[in-house]
Amino acid sequence: MKEKILIVGAGIAGLSAAISLAKAGFDVTVVERSTSLADGASITLVNRGPDALRDLGVLAQCLAESFHGKGRSLYSDVYDAAGNKIPVPSLPVRDDDLPSYVLIYRPILARILTEKAQSLGAQVYLGKGVEKLTDNGNDVSVLYMDGQQDVFDLVVGADGTSSQTRKELFGDSITSTYSGNMSLRWVKKGLPEGPGGFYSTDESHAVVVHELHDNYLYIATGIDMENRRVSSSEGVQLLREALGRLDAPYIRTLLENVADTDPVIVRPYCYHLLPTPWHKGRIALIGDAVHTMSAHIASGGVMSMEDGLVLGEELAKDGNLDERLSRFAERRYPRAFIAVDSCRQMLELQVRDKAHPSELSKVREKAFAALLKPY
Ligand SMILES: Cc1cc2nc3c(=O)[nH]c(=O)nc-3n(C[C@H](O)[C@H](O)[C@H](O)COP(=O)(O)OP(=O)(O)OC[C@H]3O[C@@H](n4cnc5c(N)ncnc54)[C@H](O)[C@@H]3O)c2cc1C
Repeated sequence: MKEKILIVGAGIAGLSAAISLAKAGFDVTVVERSTSLADGASITLVNRGPDALRDLGVLAQCLAESFHGKGRSLYSDVYDAAGNKIPVPSLPVRDDDLPSYVLIYRPILARILTEKAQSLGAQVYLGKGVEKLTDNGNDVSVLYMDGQQDVFDLVVGADGTSSQTRKELFGDSITSTYSGNMSLRWVKKGLPEGPGGFYSTDESHAVVVHELHDNYLYIATGIDMENRRVSSSEGVQLLREALGRLDAPYIRTLLENVADTDPVIVRPYCYHLLPTPWHKGRIALIGDAVHTMSAHIASGGVMSMEDGLVLGEELAKDGNLDERLSRFAERRYPRAFIAVDSCRQMLELQVRDKAHPSELSKVREKAFAALLKPY
């Protein structure tokens, strides 16, 4: 009989695993402590991201509600700080029928993934957090934050970069490294149109501007500072400061359109990678809980979808639970390493060395060539 599985966290990893496991016939429950799904920012899915959307069975819905393109790299429109277009060597790009990039508003992606998981029989509960897990050997007892209890054959911790599940399993054997760079993301509807792409100073201080579906624009940048909580008014101030470092006319126009009340999502760029195994007994980890990275190669979310898909495939195969979970992590580790280590290198080049963007591009090119291979 197929296992009864609890997934902790309804982020990209948890929902992708829910789809893959429910499709394979497992009895799946997902609990999410937050009462809503996903930040109001955009996510860029490249390399095998579109394949993952296809394999999860949500590609058509995602394409209907996203900005996407075929046969070209999203990283080919590059401008200097003054707004002059710079010729750049083209990055490896797929040449088949799938899009080479998909930019989608995260709440839309979360809705599509949730609906798909539910349509396959997975139960998804919002506002239900896990307080404590006890591995009894033959099963796992779960105590929820609301005091309710349940028992599962397997628990999958998809509870993000600060994963409590990881801490319970592996203590402080890994900790995240803060890169020194704080990311700032701003999504706004109806902004003036202009040339989208990557604007960068010679020291790799970059502003990324991408169109989204339905006349929204996505602007992402960052600022070197200490890792601390930032109020919403300070977030707006930091965004203005970051945009103000570039003279490109379009960036100046966008700067004029930043309103005091605009929501700016501020997150530290951190990285970590847990060595295998990614499980202990009947509790396993996936997604940012095991591999966290920056957005430099737009891959953390893609790795999380791939984890979910591969977990479903490996758990459906023969073998005892330990063997199946070990095979899952062994299959995932090499790709996760490439992604995390490429981001680490790019963050060091940017924050520590203030390197030219062409130096960062070399790392991205190598990573893309590797990550374009099948998962
Ligand atoms: C600034 C920034 C930009 C990025 N841009 C991109 C990009 O363009 N492309 C890309 O592919 N990747 C990108 N990433 C990476 C991507 O966002 C992450 O890799 C991905 O969201 C991780 O998904 P996850 O499901 O593992 O974790 P999360 O999205 O963090 O989800 C974990 C969930 O678990 C829940 N949870 C935690 N504890 C409990 C508990 N005890 N009980 C119940 N629920 C719990 C949380 O509330 C949360 O919803 C970016 C990351 C950052 C920081």
